[in-house]
Amino acid sequence: MQDAAQGRARTRLGVMGGTFDPVHHGHLVAASEAAAQFDLDEVVFVPTGQPSFKQDRDVTVAEHRYLMTVIATASNPRFTVSRVDVDRVGLTYTVDTLRDLRAQRPEADLYFITGADAVAQMLTWKDAAELFEMARFVAVSRPGHALSVAGLPAGRIDVLEVPALAISSTDVRARARAGKPVWYLVPDGVVQYIAKHRLYRGRHE
Ligand code: ATP
Ligand code: MG
Repeated sequence: MQDAAQGRARTRLGVMGGTFDPVHHGHLVAASEAAAQFDLDEVVFVPTGQPSFKQDRDVTVAEHRYLMTVIATASNPRFTVSRVDVDRVGLTYTVDTLRDLRAQRPEADLYFITGADAVAQMLTWKDAAELFEMARFVAVSRPGHALSVAGLPAGRIDVLEVPALAISSTDVRARARAGKPVWYLVPDGVVQYIAKHRLYRGRHE
């Protein structure tokens, strides 16, 4: 099947996985840069269900994280949000995310976008070898984290420097808890959603 917009045989689908608790401008810039650099037709944001790496803290209920991601991406025609991880029962593993997206989008080549901190852990991910068969990986730089792809399969992972935004969800949650502003760290609609639902108030990590 030809993709009308690009004249290409296959769609290029970026996949931006994350806890998004909450989604912030670091995530959005990383996705936007990856889309431009790799000529992606679409980037699908995939909020995790219960993340396997974060069982030591209270992650906000998935529906709030999903809705904030929808709000944050709504204005970009190339950004979409998937519920595959939110709706799957049990812990979230990237290999399951990619399996589900491949089944839903057989016409697409997948480009999994991931920050430097996550890249460092990739070999420990469930079914790591299979992961690299299912997608190409785009490793994006992130302030405070060295970006090294040593030991990862050459040819399946590309490195991308994105404009440095020293924003983390951890910092946004701490600010909200302390009553400090989060304007301009997250999209305006997300600021308002956090306030409306009193997220991150009086909760400890
Ligand atoms: P937390 O502090 O709760 O871990 P986070 O800011 O790291 O949140 P995640 O949802 O854990 O956000 O990250 C999802 C993906 O986005 C990961 O691949 C992560 O490396 C990447 N990422 C997060 N923040 C940035 C940033 N500022 N610049 C580039 N990549 C980022
Ligand atoms: Mg993180």
